[in-house]
Parts: sequence; structure tokens; C-alpha cells
Amino acid sequence: HLCFSEGEPPRSRRTEIMASQSTHIPSDKRFLIFFDFDETIVDETSDDMVVQAAPGQHLPGWLKDTYQPGRYNEYMQRVLAYLAEQGVTESDMRNVMEKLPATPGMITLFQFLRTRPQWDFEVVLLSDANTFFIESWLRRAGARQLFHRIFTNPATFNKDGRLVMKPFHSHDCPRCPDNMCKQVVVRDYVARRTQERGRPYQRLFYVGDGANDFCPALSFGPRDVVFPRRDFPMHRLITETHEAMPGEFKAVTVPWVSAEDVVQRLRKLVTE
Ligand SMILES: [Mg+2]
Ligand SMILES: [Zn+2]
Repeated sequence: HLCFSEGEPPRSRRTEIMASQSTHIPSDKRFLIFFDFDETIVDETSDDMVVQAAPGQHLPGWLKDTYQPGRYNEYMQRVLAYLAEQGVTESDMRNVMEKLPATPGMITLFQFLRTRPQWDFEVVLLSDANTFFIESWLRRAGARQLFHRIFTNPATFNKDGRLVMKPFHSHDCPRCPDNMCKQVVVRDYVARRTQERGRPYQRLFYVGDGANDFCPALSFGPRDVVFPRRDFPMHRLITETHEAMPGEFKAVTVPWVSAEDVVQRLRKLVTE
């Protein structure tokens, strides 16, 4: 397979991240649903939008030129350092994040998940953005409590007021950026939770849009359902894989334009 969790990533830090978010998760949930953040929950890319807090609302060319393919996380660390040098503060960045619009129908989907019987959904967020951007938005939207776990790059402000972001983990998947393979995270999480619970979930769900959401969806089985945002990279990669390698992509695929499309399908599935 394409992703391996051997070549142990720095496990201690990941364990700390989990521990810091860890309230007890009830073991009685029937379904596990994963969400991406950028262009899935919010209708923007938070890393791009944070630039609105910069002077003139743009980055200088010399900084943009330092981007190297596959090294996006390091590039973003330089962007955050630049913003701090320009005097951009924590509250400037939080203000930008709090104004990001939700994607169409997403608040309805959150409402649906929140009002289901409590044994239905375990909800996990899986993003290559960072803890500060995501938590800022979720708290303002009143949606923080919906998520049992958030897996993303850890970010905290240092004493100089600079947001310092670290890579989430390391992995050997050739498909994904250095700092995060969502398939490795999904596999580890599902395996660990299945063991803790003593039984598998009825179904897994995944709501996403990006190329890095395709990798985890590849590990899903025929009972699981993936919701790629229609005509976004995840959807295109699924379609291409069906054509080039029939049978390789196993999950049921339900493309969405509004997250209300996701609600409609989930309504049917929970009554089965
Ligand atoms: Mg995305
Ligand atoms: Zn991967």
C-alpha cells in the first residue's frame, strides 16, 4: 500500500497533542465522520486568507519565491514569521479567521450532527492548517464542542507574539506533503479507537475537497461513504482512479455542492 506507519514518527509529541485535547470519548458511537477544514468547513483557505492581516494585504514577492513543492509547511512558517515582523498580532489574525464564511449548508450539517441521538456520530477534524486558525473559527461559529478530536499542525504564540507552527508528524507516504498524511492519521485513529471500543464502527464517513483528502479516502471500504466537494481535486482524483484502476477506490462516493447534500444522504444512512 501507499502509506506506511512504520519508520515511527515522533510519537511522543503526537501523544501529547492528543492528550491535550483528550476529554473522554464515549465508546458507544455508531459512526465516525471525518472533516477537512479549508474549502470544506470554511469556503476559503485559511493560510491564504491570513495574508489579509498583512500590510497592504499581500506578501512580498521574495517571500512567495521561497516556496518549494512538497515543503508547504515550512513555507507557511516563514509567512507567519513575516507577519509577526510586520506587527501583525494574535487578535489581527483571529479577526481574519473569525470572518471566514462557512461553505454552503455546512452550518445545517453541524446542526444535524448535533441534534442526532448522542450515540450516532463521533466527529473528527483532520486538517493541514493549524490549531490556532481552526480553533479561532470553530469557537466563533459555536462549533468547537461538536468535534471530539482535532488533528492538525500545532501552533502557539511565542513570547514575541509570533505564531509558531510545527509539522504534525512525519510519514513515508509519497503522495502527501512531508508534514501530514491524512491516511496515516485515519488508519492510526480508527485502529486505536476500534481497540478501545472493542468493536468496529458501523460506517466511516469523510467530508473533504483537497488532493490530501483523497489519500485517506483510498483506505475506506465498500460500506464507507466519502463526500468529495464536487469538481474539487478530491472529486477529480476519485473519478480518475475509477477510470484508470477500476476497483481500487472502494468507498461509496457522494459529491456535494451544498453540505445539505451530505445531510440528505446521512439522513437515509442513519435509518438503516
Ligand atoms: Mg481542504
Ligand atoms: Zn498519504
